[in-house]
Amino acid sequence: MNQISSVDVEGTTHTYSIRRNPAMVGLRCISCKREYPVQDLSQGCPSCADQGTPSSLEVVYSKSPTSLFGASSGYRWGAWLPYTQGVSLAEGNTPCIDLSRLARQLGVRRLTAKHEGMNPTGSHKDRMSAQGISRALDVGAPSIVLASSGNAAVSAAAYCAVAGLRCEVATYRDMPEPYVRALHRFGARRVVFERSMDRWEHVRQKVEREGAFALTNYSVPAVGSPVFGVEGYRAVALECVTEGYLPDHILVPTSRGDLLWGVYSGLRDLLSAGLIQHMPRLWAVEPFPRLSLVLAGARLQSEFAGQTVQFSIAGSTVTLQQKLAVEHSGGGAVAVNDLDASKGLSALADHGLWVELCAGSCVAALSTLRRKGQVLPSDHALLLLTAKGDRDTFDFIG
Ligand SMILES: [Zn+2]
Repeated sequence: MNQISSVDVEGTTHTYSIRRNPAMVGLRCISCKREYPVQDLSQGCPSCADQGTPSSLEVVYSKSPTSLFGASSGYRWGAWLPYTQGVSLAEGNTPCIDLSRLARQLGVRRLTAKHEGMNPTGSHKDRMSAQGISRALDVGAPSIVLASSGNAAVSAAAYCAVAGLRCEVATYRDMPEPYVRALHRFGARRVVFERSMDRWEHVRQKVEREGAFALTNYSVPAVGSPVFGVEGYRAVALECVTEGYLPDHILVPTSRGDLLWGVYSGLRDLLSAGLIQHMPRLWAVEPFPRLSLVLAGARLQSEFAGQTVQFSIAGSTVTLQQKLAVEHSGGGAVAVNDLDASKGLSALADHGLWVELCAGSCVAALSTLRRKGQVLPSDHALLLLTAKGDRDTFDFIG
């Protein structure tokens, strides 16, 4: 195990202190529970990967914080994260906004939106970039590589710029123009591919041949993104609870389930520390049935075909982390088509919120859950609005 706990990195614009959380003592498979020393394992748990059932890892902390107070220096929630100090653009601390009119329309006691579009590059991905790129600096990686055609790409490019790291992004040809411009402005290199698998293979080669640090998963069947980045999403749960929002339900637009798992992980540890009294039910909102089919008995490692313009949550795979997050919290999955997502977007716009199309799907999903009796009139629901809307070129429906 690398014993370095703190390094100083000279970037192009800043000198960063990268400080590991001294309580980070290992990694654990979320499925078979096998433990490993702190290291970078691109396929998740090697044991589960060998058996063809890939599974994510999570960080093992020697002690959980017993308090909800944020740190006075470094990352606010550093005591709950792999890195207590590192690269930052002041991500997180996004507002929770009460939507009382929409709550009445949907028939719930209270409705809150956590607006992740208020992050520095406009999406929740900044939380992953901060922790993930701090990890890359800690292990001396020369560059970052990832496969993304949207929010993760822009976020990684920005954080690499400020960290002084080279950034290469494997994208689709039809990457929306606002994202292309952002990559150019941040100085990231864009490599264009036609097929998803080709992007992943490119990432693999960069890692294996050049020692690049992969910020996204590239294994088949899929697992979540690298553990150090995913842990960054734990802060979402901490912020909600600190501000007094412990809802009965949390609805999360979901593709691979990084955000969903991070929120679950944070809430689980808050519950075991006695800092909250109940676990909210987590709901994965998807553009067509994927996890819904797995929960009904389909094989998790299947390919799930479907078309959508909710491109932030597109994709044909399901990961174990999203399945476990909804099962352990008593939630589930809700599929929302593009037209209903667009109607949800309009409902949020009526409250002055302009978010990406898949965030609108949360509104439709809540309506479905209300109709099915999974959400009751006496309940409080929280929607995770994953990104701002002004660069989403697909929100024209409806
Ligand atoms: Zn395992």
